[in-house]
Amino acid sequence: MSAIISILSFVFGTIIGSFLNVVILRYHTGLSVWGGGLAPYPSGARGAGSFCFSCGHKLSACDLVPVFSFLFLGGRCRYCKSKISWQYPIVEILTGLVFLSVVLKFSNLLLFPYIIYSVFYILAFCFLIFISVYDFHHKIIPERPVWIFVILALLGSLFLQVYGANEAISYQLRALLAGPLMAAPFFILWAVSRGRWMGLGDAKLALGLGFLLGSSGAITALFLSFILGALVSVFLLIFRGRRFTMKSEIPFGPFLVVASFLVFIFNLNLPNLWLVA
Ligand SMILES: [Zn+2]
Repeated sequence: MSAIISILSFVFGTIIGSFLNVVILRYHTGLSVWGGGLAPYPSGARGAGSFCFSCGHKLSACDLVPVFSFLFLGGRCRYCKSKISWQYPIVEILTGLVFLSVVLKFSNLLLFPYIIYSVFYILAFCFLIFISVYDFHHKIIPERPVWIFVILALLGSLFLQVYGANEAISYQLRALLAGPLMAAPFFILWAVSRGRWMGLGDAKLALGLGFLLGSSGAITALFLSFILGALVSVFLLIFRGRRFTMKSEIPFGPFLVVASFLVFIFNLNLPNLWLVA
């Protein structure tokens, strides 16, 4: 039974991931998510449905099967043979894994809380996937999605007693503090450097992540994200050499999101760092 649910949630996740790819690609381009748009894309691409961004050919259902279409077509458009970005299968697989791990995390809850928690956290992480992939590409955290995420996480911290927490009210108070707590370092970095080291977007993202994770989770995620960021920077410094300097902008959003996801799924908790706990 649980094996079937696991497989179904992964497959459903890859389908949602495929939809997220479309949304990420079309966000701020003037193209609507559901159909054509006004942006100057290849002629013949104006109709409803998905199309190849190189040749404008309409894609059929069998071109749109998550992961498999990419593998089967060898990462190229069926019609014009132009290369398709690795972003597609990667986002699809990651979204599938997010669905699977959230569903597994709550699998020992009763049916009603199981559904509520799974839907809430899956929705929150879909926004986070969108925000971090967009940040990865454009080096900016998209304004509207990040505020929607902040509000969603705030509502979650107010109305969902987080799984495993016994004292709901004190937990909620700390979760409310956790948002500003996690945002503070980014806000300070932004203010001190006048936006040169860190954008204000990272502070907004951290605000929502703090609400989502609670106080000890927020501190753990903050710590982990800086470690991940430092490791990747050192790796790039060594292997990319001259092409990479510390001045090259590395978007920090993806590190924050990956760290938060690991903290959430594995209940990571830096002990003794949070005095109130
Ligand atoms: Zn094409």
